[in-house]
Amino acid sequence: MKIIMLGAPGAGKGTQAKMIADAYNIPHISTGDIFRANIKNNTELGIKAKKYMDQGLLVPDELTCDLVVDRICQEDCADGYVLDGFPRTIPQAVCLDKALEGMSDKIDYAVNVKVPDENIVRRMSGRRACAKCGATYHIVHIPPKKEGICDRCSSELILRDDDKPETVLKRLSVYHAQTQPLIEYYDEKGVLVEVDGTQEMNDVFAEITGALK
Ligand code: ADP
Ligand code: AMP
Repeated sequence: MKIIMLGAPGAGKGTQAKMIADAYNIPHISTGDIFRANIKNNTELGIKAKKYMDQGLLVPDELTCDLVVDRICQEDCADGYVLDGFPRTIPQAVCLDKALEGMSDKIDYAVNVKVPDENIVRRMSGRRACAKCGATYHIVHIPPKKEGICDRCSSELILRDDDKPETVLKRLSVYHAQTQPLIEYYDEKGVLVEVDGTQEMNDVFAEITGALK
């Protein structure tokens, strides 16, 4: 099954993508995680991407598309994958479609996790991420067992630089301008599934799996 996660930053795409990946035994591919790993390792891509990410802007399409196309061609993606944070622009979606067409393949579902803007800032200011394994928590809604410590790998949890309120507002406006049009794009292709992301995370997950056949 080939799935795309859509939704505003902080809507819960990553949280649901990880649950889907575990349930269907397919890889979870997050472009945000790939960029953050590159930043951590100080690669050329990481240095370029950081400039945009710190400002709440999208990394240019030309640095993003090939990376994802290469990743989905790897062997572990043969039975499907869940793309989290990609595509984020119409040109990225077109690039993905062209690459898939070349492999006589297509996306099965684009899952839009709907959360109103007013909930987003609260969600993101409470998000804590493990810098080592990428697990995410929320200090109120999905807290770790021990404050500030990752349940999975016991590393320290951090507030992402781009989750500070001023950057979140910028990311939201970028989302509305550049990413939201993808909802219509995938609706026209007949693969859109919309879920209410304001519910408790297990209820969101149940709604998603109920819609995937
Ligand atoms: P995204 O990948 O869309 O940016 P995340 O999955 O990282 O979003 O979720 C953003 C924040 O909201 C995280 O702190 C996460 O733990 C929390 N969160 C995710 N799903 C829910 C939910 N259904 N209810 C409350 N908080 C949630
Ligand atoms: P995320 O972890 O998905 O919230 O992404 C964090 C940041 O990485 C975004 O705000 C963008 O700056 C960058 N990014 C992630 N995915 C993409 C993408 N598909 N296109 C452009 N920029 C991206």
